[in-house]
Amino acid sequence: MISRIDLRGPAFPEGGIDRDLLPRAEFDVEAALETVRPICEDVRHRGTPAVIEYGERFDGVSLSRLRVSQRALDEALAGLDPEVRAALEESVRRARLVHREQRRTDVTTQVVPGGTVTERWVPVERVGLYVPGGLAVYPSSVVMNVVPAQEAGVAGIAVASPPQQEFGGAPHPTILAACALLGVTEVYAAGGAQAIAMFAYGTDECRPVNLVTGPGNIYVAAAKRLLKGRIGIDAEAGPTEIAVLADATADAGFVAADLISQAEHDPLAAAVLVTTSAELADAVDKELGVQVAAARHRERITAALSGRQSATVLVDTLAQGLDVVDAYAAEHLEIHTEDAAAVAARVRNAGAVFVGPHTPVSLGDYCAGSNHVLPTGGCACHSSGLSVQSFLRGIHVVDYTREALAEVAHHVVTLAAAEDLPAHGAAVTARFGRPVT
Ligand code: NAD
Repeated sequence: MISRIDLRGPAFPEGGIDRDLLPRAEFDVEAALETVRPICEDVRHRGTPAVIEYGERFDGVSLSRLRVSQRALDEALAGLDPEVRAALEESVRRARLVHREQRRTDVTTQVVPGGTVTERWVPVERVGLYVPGGLAVYPSSVVMNVVPAQEAGVAGIAVASPPQQEFGGAPHPTILAACALLGVTEVYAAGGAQAIAMFAYGTDECRPVNLVTGPGNIYVAAAKRLLKGRIGIDAEAGPTEIAVLADATADAGFVAADLISQAEHDPLAAAVLVTTSAELADAVDKELGVQVAAARHRERITAALSGRQSATVLVDTLAQGLDVVDAYAAEHLEIHTEDAAAVAARVRNAGAVFVGPHTPVSLGDYCAGSNHVLPTGGCACHSSGLSVQSFLRGIHVVDYTREALAEVAHHVVTLAAAEDLPAHGAAVTARFGRPVT
């Protein structure tokens, strides 16, 4: 079911791993830009009626307004299964513990007597949080977006999630309930590129936001890329990925279960096993055969595991395995090796690392306390997952006295002259009524 790449012996590239050697989903955001550009333009010019029309076309619903009423939010919470509510509450509690600790404090550095620079952390004013709802519904993504925004102190939080035919065009009730549980009152039944454009340009119903975060499919990713600049975005979070680095000590049943758990998201989801043990690779293949056959979403899982984005990679040593997983820069990386914590400490590129046999990615998806909105497609080599920091901006506050300015004035004037920007120097000398030396 899952293909093999054998990098043992001389097959391991001498100069290190080229990331193009590794499997990756066909997720051509550039191509999708052409699809989403007219959608975004249309929403920019026509606003709510355009968003409603795309909901009719792509989600098969007919709506007269996009904003979900407070009554519908309250009813969704009242109707929430008590066990789901308890699980969501625990997920929120743990996420708050972790995200609250991430809040940076302002730092003032005295550069010279009378000259200070303060980095002041200020929350973004208004954010649009996207919660996917095409193939699966993700109340957990409500938690993962809303909790860091709230802990950062964001005043205006709006959520959008695709309208569901089955629920009269409202987003899925568990998504509404999760919003209500978290005290979010501004929720829109809008999905895909049209939701991102609604956030970016604003409509009569929804004021424009400063920042859009949250995972989504290729149309969501393309709209975020297109509108970046007008709005801030988090990393582009595309189809989910799991990489597992394992040696002969790994439990094949656990590894197979974890690969399947992420393959369940999406036919484009990627599952990559990197191992020093051919015996383990064989045992995992066997387990996959058994476990996939019994899985509820076996068609989706089979498509993901047999797709070009998934593979088992054989290497000779753990050091080579680390080279491979670093080059791949997985959204989720599990370590199933002897002394897993020490191996995890050597990882350079990953959205999140899950250490040892009892830390499956599913724990992180819901209840570890960590965030599950993580960079995919190799972006983990330059971007981080969602955190409180994603919702803050650092403002440098520079405060110098006349004496402190005088002390450095000649250097400023020299550098201004070197850049042929004499007016910069003049702005300093004007303070002293004479040339500075
Ligand atoms: P989605 O909400 O992202 O997309 C659904 C929307 O896509 C629809 O509302 C529709 O408007 C739009 N759409 C559908 N077909 C279209 C077309 N032909 N042209 C233009 N627009 C179209 O839901 P999804 O499709 O289920 O995707 C969710 C993705 O998010 C999955 O790939 C999943 O793996 C990923 N995900 C990632 C994370 C993470 O943290 N990285 C977390 C959860 C989910």
